[in-house]
Amino acid sequence: MVGSAILRRLQKEGFENFVLRSSKELDLRVQQDVENFFKEEKPEYVFLAAAKVGGILANNTYRAEFLYDNLMIQNNVIHQAYVNGVKKLLFLGSSCIYPKHAPQPLKEEYLLTGELEPTNEPYAIAKIAGIKMCDAYRDQYGCNFISAMPTNLYGPNDNYDLKTSHVLPALIRKFHEAKVENKPFVEVWGTGSPRREFMHVDDLAGACLFLMENYNEPGFVNVGTGVDVTIKELAEMIRDIVGYVGKIQWDTSKPDGTPRKLMDVSLLGKMEWESRIDLEEGLRLEIESLASILKHEV
Ligand code: GDP
Repeated sequence: MVGSAILRRLQKEGFENFVLRSSKELDLRVQQDVENFFKEEKPEYVFLAAAKVGGILANNTYRAEFLYDNLMIQNNVIHQAYVNGVKKLLFLGSSCIYPKHAPQPLKEEYLLTGELEPTNEPYAIAKIAGIKMCDAYRDQYGCNFISAMPTNLYGPNDNYDLKTSHVLPALIRKFHEAKVENKPFVEVWGTGSPRREFMHVDDLAGACLFLMENYNEPGFVNVGTGVDVTIKELAEMIRDIVGYVGKIQWDTSKPDGTPRKLMDVSLLGKMEWESRIDLEEGLRLEIESLASILKHEV
């Protein structure tokens, strides 16, 4: 989702000469393959969007894979970027790197000030290691490696598998199917009280290009909209846009996860970058495109 959004954005801006590999063509967890790839292709600028990602259930179930796969991917890519003299690398993480009970909104300086949210601790530990690796390579070798931490993302090429997806695509799918199949209720996980911030991936792609062109510092930059909603509000927004008239049933046997993770986006704001696509507009775009994909399946 993120890689293809960055590519669309770069193409739109007129960039050329892309070096692309899908995960099937190049397994970034395999050290020798990544070494060969960098040696042959010698990329100058690297957007490291590749990662094993998923929603609360996937993160909590495949804990070993989330730690191993992400550490391997980033160790291989960041190290080879250094060995092969990459001019600049952007490493992408996530807002789950912050302590579970950090003050809100989350400022970059709150990193490593408290315990992490247990459901996604392995993923968060890998991403924190990636930030520190970029900084260490900057300190020791002078590499211009930067990091950005996006909030929860959604948009084209999102994962709609209900077992592994994040909440937003899951709810779009559930409400859409319930409407088509005339179901009396839709099951939504948890209590509905956690708050989440959602950003369209095309906005993130704009921020990535902006940072690649303008930011050259250690540490990392939050990327978000600065606005959050409760899961209940999100469910009601999606229900209304889809036009579903049945009920919402809360499945409290499923975890809520962290109570809130709203990004403080003032650092990016000072650089005069801000998110453009608001949640309502982004949801409409995504719901329309999913409805046309599912029409052929249902
Ligand atoms: P998180 O941001 O790491 O907690 O990941 P998610 O996007 O998976 O979940 C966010 C919140 O939405 C949690 O409180 C979930 O319990 C809640 N949620 C409600 N319904 C669903 C659903 O159908 N799928 C997912 N993934 N989360 C849901």
